[in-house]
Amino acid sequence: MDNKRDYYEVLGVAKTATKDELKKAYRKLALKYHPDKNPGDKVAEEKFKEAAEAYDVLSDDNKRAKYDQWGPSMGPSGFGGAGGGGFHARGMSMEDIFSHFGDIFGGGSYGGFGGFGSAAGGRRRRQQKGTDLRIKVKLTLKEISEGVSKKLKLPRYVQCQHCNGTGAKDGTAFNTCPTCHGSGVISQVQQTILGPMESTATCPTCHGEGKTISEKCTFCNGEGIVRQEEVVEFTIPAGVQDGMTLSIKGKGNAARHGGINGDLLIVIEEIPDPELIRDGNDIIYNLMLDIPTATLGGSVDIPTITGKARVKIPAGTQPGKVLRLRGKGLPNTEGYGNGDELVNIMVYIPEQLNETERKAIEQLRDQPNVKADESIKKRIFSRLRHIFE
Ligand SMILES: [Zn+2]
Ligand SMILES: [Zn+2]
Repeated sequence: MDNKRDYYEVLGVAKTATKDELKKAYRKLALKYHPDKNPGDKVAEEKFKEAAEAYDVLSDDNKRAKYDQWGPSMGPSGFGGAGGGGFHARGMSMEDIFSHFGDIFGGGSYGGFGGFGSAAGGRRRRQQKGTDLRIKVKLTLKEISEGVSKKLKLPRYVQCQHCNGTGAKDGTAFNTCPTCHGSGVISQVQQTILGPMESTATCPTCHGEGKTISEKCTFCNGEGIVRQEEVVEFTIPAGVQDGMTLSIKGKGNAARHGGINGDLLIVIEEIPDPELIRDGNDIIYNLMLDIPTATLGGSVDIPTITGKARVKIPAGTQPGKVLRLRGKGLPNTEGYGNGDELVNIMVYIPEQLNETERKAIEQLRDQPNVKADESIKKRIFSRLRHIFE
């Protein structure tokens, strides 16, 4: 893991900060480092993204709890990483930030500040792009470990077949735009101190299309697009993380009156496992042994992502010992190797005893191999040292 700054530090709030305080702190930073205010400033952009990442984790109760427990070393659970299988898995892009935290910026989807991304170059005749579709896909650890194919029925806007997406009846009922005579642009002459200057602008009548509809297509009411349920199939590569966004180009909504489709954005949601805890690509399992098994050794069945596994417990196993099952974790999205399953040993000390049990334990009390003297403590603690390093 790379050296991430502490998220609380990034936002400049206390560890006890309420959701409101987090939101306020984030809003302040987002305004300060907003790309519209700092055009071309890479440092500001990094700060802007860093704040978004911190806010994304801390504003989510689940992620915040994990973060508080495991600290910055766990990474931002869900960002970064690369894709496979035709996907493009992203860190938080600007687009993500605006669509995620739209409410922070006071706008609906991304935009708010006069539309990030569309701020530049409004004068050209642009190709329209349909809107992105965003869906959430919930996955179990098993699905994440193996990768999974999904087939979903999605309502999306597609091109109207009756007018070929033009919005005009039969795709032919057009007039040449009377304002721009088909060019899509109009020229304006302005008087300036340097004399008359000519400039061009997108035609306000036809919005640059050069033609106007003389009769609307009745199937799409002149929109050129219709909403329709469509089956979308896609494969999610193994090893994805909660919060990660995968995008499939062109599977979003169609654009009005032709143009290119938006993208389908798939947001990964991990269904928490009742027994296994995810830590990056590793899996943590807390195993509770009884005193006889920890003392005498034995074998126990433990859950793994792919099913039960039998592990051997050596005689004299101490609580705090971590058994490492190599390769039993999650695969890396970048395709190299698997994480491990870490079995964290705990030993159950009985809380209530009946008479027989009490006697048996009493008898053990002064036995030479049961007493924990100073040299034993030293030996055991030095063996467990690695846990605290
Ligand atoms: Zn026109
Ligand atoms: Zn139509």
